[in-house]
Amino acid sequence: MKTFYSAAHLKHRPAQEFERGRLAPAVEVPERAECVRRRIEERKIGPLLEPSRFDDDIVLAVHDAGLVSFLGSAHARWRKHYGEDAPDAIPSAWPARGMSARLSGEIESQLGSYSFDTATPITRGTWDAARDAANVALSAAEAVAEGEGSAFALTRPPGHHASFDVFGGYCYLNNVAIAAEWLTKKGRSVAILDVDYHHGNGTQSIFYDRKDVLFISVHADPSFAFPHFLGFADENGQSTGEGFNLNLPLPRGTDWARYAEALGRALHRVRDFGPDVLLVSLGLDTFEDDPIAQFKLTRPDYLRMGEAIAGLKLPTIFNFEGGYDLNGLAEITVNVLEGFEGR
Ligand SMILES: [Zn+2]
Repeated sequence: MKTFYSAAHLKHRPAQEFERGRLAPAVEVPERAECVRRRIEERKIGPLLEPSRFDDDIVLAVHDAGLVSFLGSAHARWRKHYGEDAPDAIPSAWPARGMSARLSGEIESQLGSYSFDTATPITRGTWDAARDAANVALSAAEAVAEGEGSAFALTRPPGHHASFDVFGGYCYLNNVAIAAEWLTKKGRSVAILDVDYHHGNGTQSIFYDRKDVLFISVHADPSFAFPHFLGFADENGQSTGEGFNLNLPLPRGTDWARYAEALGRALHRVRDFGPDVLLVSLGLDTFEDDPIAQFKLTRPDYLRMGEAIAGLKLPTIFNFEGGYDLNGLAEITVNVLEGFEGR
């Protein structure tokens, strides 16, 4: 399986994130993608390839031009405002419901209006990393469109929490949505299966009124887990997209037996839909040792996950999303790929 990877992700090094009432060391760090890259090389999964450069048009087909322009200039403007030594940019005020918000265009105003949480700092290198992650996802899509049976997009930062005009949840541009949009423009029908511990609220919202892109997410119930406001079982899509969104929320402590049942339902729905290409938002924070999540999947379970997805016999692109246990992350990620390949 070809893996697409860009060293540009190394430029995105958030120092801290604000959550649970404290400023804590960031968990979405460069070592996440680096440890996976090393294991891919050790296990000889396939060639490691640089992404091609894709035009902004395809990014702008998914995201608001204002958000894209903001992300590209935000850190320079933040430094201009707070000084060259300023820490990473984290918002501290939002245009909340019930306020008649006026957007001044000033850096703090824009930072608040384009974000939804305090866990997603904008650093000096964030834009370069996020933009090349989109290229990584697009290059994997292009490889599969040209006939590869599968590909792995080692995208970092992740993308599935980013919506049309809002970033958050460690995500800036929605890599999997951009790849899906590119494939639909090539005439392919697409299903997106999101197996990250957290609901893919950004991806859902982008395709919520579309029937040419099926979105399915298996995740921790938002009644107790991030992103808290979306991902409930009764969100089915709207207008022409009604029936093309499927959420399968699961309780705290979910183990493989329970997870496999939900995954089976998800795969059944993909089979019914019959897409040309399957995109997997491959989050690995369902792992039992993940520091920010509460599921109980074990290392061999990820082999089973890969095997189950392979059972669909579809051209498949795996897009790297979350997963924060640096001791297990490389092994469980590659287990999914090896399970898929029947190794
Ligand atoms: Zn996650």
